[in-house]
Amino acid sequence: MTLFEAVASASGGPPDPHTASQQAIAAELDHKLAGLATLEDRIAAIRAAIDGRVAFSTSLGIEDQAITHAIAETGAAIDIFTLDTGRHFPETLDTLFETEGKYGLKIRVMYPDAAEVEDLVANDGIYGFRYSIEARKACCEIRKVRPLNRALKGAAAWITGLRREQSQGRSHVPFASYDAAQKLIKVNPIADWSLAQLEDYIAANNVPVNALHAKGFPSIGCQPCTRAIKPGEDIRAGRWWWENENGKECGLHTQGEDPGFEPKDHAA
Ligand code: SF4
Repeated sequence: MTLFEAVASASGGPPDPHTASQQAIAAELDHKLAGLATLEDRIAAIRAAIDGRVAFSTSLGIEDQAITHAIAETGAAIDIFTLDTGRHFPETLDTLFETEGKYGLKIRVMYPDAAEVEDLVANDGIYGFRYSIEARKACCEIRKVRPLNRALKGAAAWITGLRREQSQGRSHVPFASYDAAQKLIKVNPIADWSLAQLEDYIAANNVPVNALHAKGFPSIGCQPCTRAIKPGEDIRAGRWWWENENGKECGLHTQGEDPGFEPKDHAA
């Protein structure tokens, strides 16, 4: 059975030729990345495997800083962008500034639509996301998900810093897979890294990191929706802490999946 036939059989019917070809490339890349030891080799392999634009969404958190470093080291032609929600910590913007300066690269900054933000705040208030999950999802949709979708439009592949160790919901994150919602290949080059491995890489390469990491913030999102965690707490415990532990996702990595707040998932 060819890879195309295997993909068609597994999905219950033949996908269109473009989707089938992207699924096959993703499957090959998933296998290839598992056999490469260094992040630099993985970044080079991703770039070599993909025809077209490869986009990397950085939250400027520790995982994404490691990937930015490897991209800069390899010189791979990868479009790096970040989402400025308008609610970031100053330390996050400092990290953006410092990273561009250290590596001599430009990080494209995506902003939400101003009219949509104005309508959102007019309807829900400046802290409307605190009052209901629906209001919080609406805020993430306007400030994060829509700018993300614009940034990924036309991209052939999307690199993220997801790690399996981050949460139960991410424990099966592959190195590469076809993202049917975004219609591109989603690649997670440090999916198998432990936190210790990540911290070793950051220290060995003197990678700039957000100053908040040293103050109890392992996962950093918008300022009003992120707090420091206490010793022993889950690394995602400081995100949307007033909500149920299940399903604390902003929607960046769950489009096309059940958008409900069921199983707990990722960090953006
Ligand atoms: S994390 Fe909070 S402030 Fe940021 S987009 Fe989501 S709800 Fe809005």
